[in-house]
Amino acid sequence: MAENATGRKTWNYSPDEPIRYNPLFDWPIHPLKVFTWMIKRWISISRFLMFIILGFVIYQYLTPSLQTMQHVTFDWVLLIFLRNTTLLFLVAGSLHLYLHVRKAQGDSFKFLKQEMAINNKRFKFNDQVYDNMFWSIASGVTVWTGYEVLYLCSLAKEWISVAPLAEHPLQFFFWILCFPLIRGTHFYFIHRLLHHPFLYQHVHITHHRNVNTGPWSGISMHPIENLIYQSSPLIHFIIPSDPVIVIIHLILVTVNPAFTHSGFEKIMNKETKILDSADFHHQLHHKYFDCNYGNMDVPLDVWLGTHHDGTDEATQKLRMKKRKSVT
Ligand SMILES: [Zn+2]
Ligand SMILES: [Zn+2]
Repeated sequence: MAENATGRKTWNYSPDEPIRYNPLFDWPIHPLKVFTWMIKRWISISRFLMFIILGFVIYQYLTPSLQTMQHVTFDWVLLIFLRNTTLLFLVAGSLHLYLHVRKAQGDSFKFLKQEMAINNKRFKFNDQVYDNMFWSIASGVTVWTGYEVLYLCSLAKEWISVAPLAEHPLQFFFWILCFPLIRGTHFYFIHRLLHHPFLYQHVHITHHRNVNTGPWSGISMHPIENLIYQSSPLIHFIIPSDPVIVIIHLILVTVNPAFTHSGFEKIMNKETKILDSADFHHQLHHKYFDCNYGNMDVPLDVWLGTHHDGTDEATQKLRMKKRKSVT
């Protein structure tokens, strides 16, 4: 376990192995390793499979008809807002109750020992969880609903082209396979932008007050950050896809962060793993700020010199770099 300069343990839990990236970018290339990585993303990590199923259920049963959506009216927009809020409550709320209230697995696979902050003036209502819930719903779900309404209304008015699953099954599969690459690239560059001193100080700081994160921290962001962060599904206005793909893309952007910020690497039932959850890569970003802007699907952090592999050496290097930039 890593110890810092004062001899105290930095992490309650950290993975044994160094952080690894998508082998697609290794040279020489190993096709089998690449295929296994990309398939594993969707099959072995069952929450991604759950998101695909959710996408179909939501578009089929929980979305108004195209005829209704030709005109933007308060009633159906409110329904979509309430449906999205419910979905976030179901996922982030359940994870929070299981991991942080009931503490069903104790500190097992928890990155940091500390608990979510209470009586802390940095947070609205002096409470980190209530603060995070406020920003997630008022900012996160509002922007999510806005992008979804924009897409659905454009679809209903036939302003954009679609590629239905029945006619383009391969394209549908290709989108699913490429989501991690699209999102990994988009996230890295918008995240670097958000660390520009002005944007950081006025916008990104809302998310970064959470050094220790929980499920509600995922899209607990300033509205401008949510507008930038949730913009990757705009690609479907340019490249046609099935509408279910857009719903899945929006779920990945908004609901998945409840897992990635849960503070626990795995969700366990006694000794059995139920799901993979947070990744150490992003946890390191919340702790050290100037590293790991992207994710492990595209090694942009390695290529652009912002990678932190979780070791003490990497922390020391980062500190030296900071000191040099200050002096
Ligand atoms: Zn984050
Ligand atoms: Zn950041």
